[in-house]
Amino acid sequence: LEKEEEIYPGIELKFFNGHTQGQIIPHINYKGKTLVYMADLLPSTVHIPIPCVPHEGFELLLQLGRKKPEGCFVFTSNVDGQFQKAGFDSKKIVEAHGSIHHFQCSNDCVGDIWGAAGKSIPVDMKHFRAKAFPRCPHCGAIARPNILMFGDWHWNDSRYLEQSRRMIKWLDQITLSNAKLAVIEIGAGTALSTVRKKSETVADRFENTLIRINPCEDDIPDNVSGIGLAMGGVEGLRYIVG
Ligand SMILES: [Zn+2]
Repeated sequence: LEKEEEIYPGIELKFFNGHTQGQIIPHINYKGKTLVYMADLLPSTVHIPIPCVPHEGFELLLQLGRKKPEGCFVFTSNVDGQFQKAGFDSKKIVEAHGSIHHFQCSNDCVGDIWGAAGKSIPVDMKHFRAKAFPRCPHCGAIARPNILMFGDWHWNDSRYLEQSRRMIKWLDQITLSNAKLAVIEIGAGTALSTVRKKSETVADRFENTLIRINPCEDDIPDNVSGIGLAMGGVEGLRYIVG
């Protein structure tokens, strides 16, 4: 979304600097009343197909990783599956906040997580309402994206934990092979510090370099050895690759 606009009659999207900068807040005007949805507008991909393609930065990072004997491992708080789409090994990705491409039961009845690919939700575009919701195949309750939201006590983290176990194994392999590790952190702010903390912890464990690419928050704490690049993601990666 480039600017605030009315996407359908009566539904306006406005920017709001909430827990993240430029959060998109839908305003719904109906019969003289306005309903404001004060949370992220985060439909699943089956509601609205995400047309975006991974930008150049993904390719730069992918090629950089492929040149290294031990390859690379991705830890991301993004939920959009762009790393997989860009060609990164799906067994070497941790999606710390889940994935929009997976569903779970809203009651998390049996702990199942299933792929959203191929599922479609018919939407009445005139009223912007789903005509039918995806359902849990086990209990029939409404399914939801397997994404961690704020105050979310029902997120099924089993997929994330499995991914994390693979990352721990990979890091142990790095230790065994005595390889040098560089941590490249891209666009991880302090407002949601999951990724920032992880990169600091890993860089600290291996006493290796953290390269923090962030246009406004590129500072490195004293106990971590690192380089801050006050740039955007693509610009920073171009700078590293040379
Ligand atoms: Zn269920």
